[in-house]
Amino acid sequence: MISPLSSLTVPWSQELLIDGDLVRGEGPDHLVVGDPATEETLTELREASSDQVGQAVEAARRAFESDTWKDRELRRHVLLTMANILEENAELLTAAIVHEVGTPVTLARLLQIGEPIALLRAFADLALVNRDRSLGVADGPPRSDAVIAYQPSGVVAAIAAYNYPLLFTATKLGGALAAGCTAVLLPSPQAPLSILLFARLLQQADLPRGVVNVIVGGAGVGQALTTHSDVDKISFTGSVGVGRQVMAQAASGLKRVALELGGKSPSLLLPDADIDAITEQVHARYVRNAGQGCSSPTRILVHESRYDDFLDRSRDAFASLKVGDPWDTTVVAGPVISEQHRERIEGYVARAVDAGGKVVAGGGRPDMPRGWYLNGALVGEVTNKSEIAREELFGPVGVVLPYRTVDEALAIANDSDFGLAATIYGDSVAARELAPRLRVGTVMINGWIPRQDKAGGGFKMSGMGREIGEEGVREFLETQFIAWPEPQA
Ligand code: NAD
Repeated sequence: MISPLSSLTVPWSQELLIDGDLVRGEGPDHLVVGDPATEETLTELREASSDQVGQAVEAARRAFESDTWKDRELRRHVLLTMANILEENAELLTAAIVHEVGTPVTLARLLQIGEPIALLRAFADLALVNRDRSLGVADGPPRSDAVIAYQPSGVVAAIAAYNYPLLFTATKLGGALAAGCTAVLLPSPQAPLSILLFARLLQQADLPRGVVNVIVGGAGVGQALTTHSDVDKISFTGSVGVGRQVMAQAASGLKRVALELGGKSPSLLLPDADIDAITEQVHARYVRNAGQGCSSPTRILVHESRYDDFLDRSRDAFASLKVGDPWDTTVVAGPVISEQHRERIEGYVARAVDAGGKVVAGGGRPDMPRGWYLNGALVGEVTNKSEIAREELFGPVGVVLPYRTVDEALAIANDSDFGLAATIYGDSVAARELAPRLRVGTVMINGWIPRQDKAGGGFKMSGMGREIGEEGVREFLETQFIAWPEPQA
């Protein structure tokens, strides 16, 4: 069924939000934002100039220093207002996401509206928590009392990847504002439009000026933002390569960084896993959003005794995972973000096949007149040392790797530069015993479980720092020790 949202006319915004005002970008470069399903241009806009980057950071600094922003109730109110804005404008914002990212409408509604609303409401409650901790009296000398206090980090540069723009808006702004920070948000130049619409709605909501600023641009604007002397903390979501650059840019000012980077996550199917019941969800989890998900479990580890069975079920599964028009409510995957990105993904598959691998299920492109579509594919007859098993494709392509023993499966799972997430399928008690041996930030057992109190983040090259929940607030806090002398008892 085609969603009625497909006929909604989205009033695109070309305006940045700086110090409570909507302004056009004045930078030298234009961004052209396209619809990956139709290949048409949605809108063009000017990037922020370096002056505007400075204005946004200075506005965030003033808001941070203001007495009003020290009020926890106000911070809670702002976060709840943001959640309400998403709820009240769910249709418009969902439509914007489908247009600019190509995310299927059902998934867009769930992960880009529903989940951000839930996260922002959870952050609103966390904004009220006083985390200061009394250490109590120590005999000394001198006799003293002391407290561990937590102070907001300051001005946050929040930088988002293109695949789930409103979700990252909620995780970054949610954690930062709950902690008492203020922010300058930089969306991806590939998908800035839903965030700019959200910025326009925020501006109309009569919130304190400068607490949230939104600018747009590419690498140059990102560099200007992350090296600005008044930025205290950088919260970045994106690729390992750009994450490294961001860390280097942060180094001269010794800015705090949280990096949410890529992954090559394993799905470990234990020997007792119910292959018939789970195969479709194992594939759906990484085919969804055309594979453009950081935690996509694209390395599937199957016991050798179940391997043929798994391939049979996989062929059925790929036949029923629908790839096509993102406005179709039954579609699992729409197009990928761009022509270049599709070529990049197809290049990985072609090189794997050249090296002796085989597409054992799915593959190719769907029959669509236009758009950057790509079918889900499962590649077999490769090892965990092959390029396609080691690098993040950010596309709907999995590899299947047989194992002989569970210890060997764990070794394969951990043999990766990444450490973002893993899923274990099989007996829940056995899976829980294995979970701590996986060098990843998130372990899901028997399927993906959304929680607003999760601490998302990676081991190894998948990044540093945590997002969402209590840890997602602590990421934006500095620890402070305060001590004073006490009279002798
Ligand atoms: P990207 O690294 O190309 O871009 C991310 C952001 O960085 C963009 O907003 C871009 O404008 C900005 N940027 C570019 N150069 C910069 C610079 N020098 N300084 C500051 N900012 C700069 O990533 P992408 O293609 O948008 O997203 C895909 C990647 O993001 C994948 O690797 C994916 O795994 C990762 N990702 C990670 C998570 C997570 O939570 N771990 C979530 C989603 C996506």
